Amino acid sequence: MRLILLGPPGSGKGTQAVYIQSAYSICKLATGDILRSEEFKKNSLYTTVKSYMESGSLVPDEIMVEIVSCYIKKEEYSKGFILDGFPRTLAQAKVLDSMLKEASMDIDAVIEIKVDSKELVSRICNRFSCSGCGENYNKEYKPLKKENICNVCGGTDFSYRSDDKEEKIKIRLEAYENQTLKLLPYYKEKGILYSVNGMLEIEEVKKDIESILKLLT
Ligand code: AMP
Repeated sequence: MRLILLGPPGSGKGTQAVYIQSAYSICKLATGDILRSEEFKKNSLYTTVKSYMESGSLVPDEIMVEIVSCYIKKEEYSKGFILDGFPRTLAQAKVLDSMLKEASMDIDAVIEIKVDSKELVSRICNRFSCSGCGENYNKEYKPLKKENICNVCGGTDFSYRSDDKEEKIKIRLEAYENQTLKLLPYYKEKGILYSVNGMLEIEEVKKDIESILKLLT
């Protein structure tokens, strides 16, 4: 199964990608996670990429395509993948199509997670993750069960993304509206676009995604 999760920052793509990854045993390829990883910090492109990420704007297509084309060839993605955060522009989507075509592969479904734009800023400002296991949290929607203790690994160290600040969030949401939204008609025309209501509880969104995935298997 090869899936793309589409949605604005804060729509819950990361949370749902983790769920699909464990329920269907397919690897997620989250470009934002790759760019923030310790491994990528050693890459010669890191300094350039960092400045785009910190400003909240999109990293240029050529750089993203170069990175994704390296990662997608890895063995762990050969049986399928969930793309989270890529493609984000029409140019990226078209290159992805040709990359997959060369390998005689196709995208099975693009799942759009729709969220009211008014809600996104508060969602993003309230999110954080466990520095130990990477579990994502949100002060409002997915809080810690015990104060300052990770529900999953018991860790006590948490991190906040530097681009989750209100002024950067605005730029990231604009990038989504101006560039990434153009992907919806592109995938609709291919007949592989599905939408779920991301305003529902995490568990409800999960169920809606499951129903879509059942149609594919
Ligand atoms: P994310 O974790 O998906 O919100 O991504 C964080 C940041 O990484 C974005 O604001 C961009 O600066 C950069 N980024 C991640 N994926 C892409 C992409 N496909 N195209 C351009 N920039 C990206």
